[in-house]
Amino acid sequence: MPRDSKDSDTTGVGPELKVETRTSDEYRALEDALKTLQDGAELPPQDDPWRVLGSLLAPDLRDRFQNRAGVEQPADTACIRRLITGEEDCSCADTRSWVDREREQIGTRNDPPHQPPHADHAALWLDGDGEPAVYSMHIYPGNVLNYTPSTTADPDQHQRNGWFDIVNWAEHWGLEVDIAPISWYNPFRTVTVLFYPPERNHQSTE
Ligand SMILES: [Zn+2]
Repeated sequence: MPRDSKDSDTTGVGPELKVETRTSDEYRALEDALKTLQDGAELPPQDDPWRVLGSLLAPDLRDRFQNRAGVEQPADTACIRRLITGEEDCSCADTRSWVDREREQIGTRNDPPHQPPHADHAALWLDGDGEPAVYSMHIYPGNVLNYTPSTTADPDQHQRNGWFDIVNWAEHWGLEVDIAPISWYNPFRTVTVLFYPPERNHQSTE
């Protein structure tokens, strides 16, 4: 999937900190502590302390999402059409053309789509009964904010703010959308966007 190649995004990791902060004794102590934790966890070498912290926290962040959302495991195929239509299964990975994929990227609407605009590192999560419950995707905000579509999706290639694509798309297909600023995939670099049917959110507040 070409969209997974966005890992090469070169923006910095974590919050931008003042030089005084990054060179302070306290920050150095934090770096040392993270180094010790990294060695103990036998994680691959990382040069950035925020990457180390992200790697250490990622499994816990994912667990917390699963508990909070009440989901057990991801489906074999990350297809959001099942969430929209309630279909049992989908073979979209085999049957969808690249043209359709390009159009989906900006939320062109026809048949219930198989992925939302700007989908990246996506999963369709199943509840305890094996039913589709929540769709998650982890996106690099910089890839969405000023997005230039392919000529297939938009012959004029008008630059667009992809957040509108995502929100308008969700509204059109009757899904709610939520954003978690700290993702469990590449934490501190990506944000998690969640889609789910409206009734799901309202169950817990009744
Ligand atoms: Zn599908």
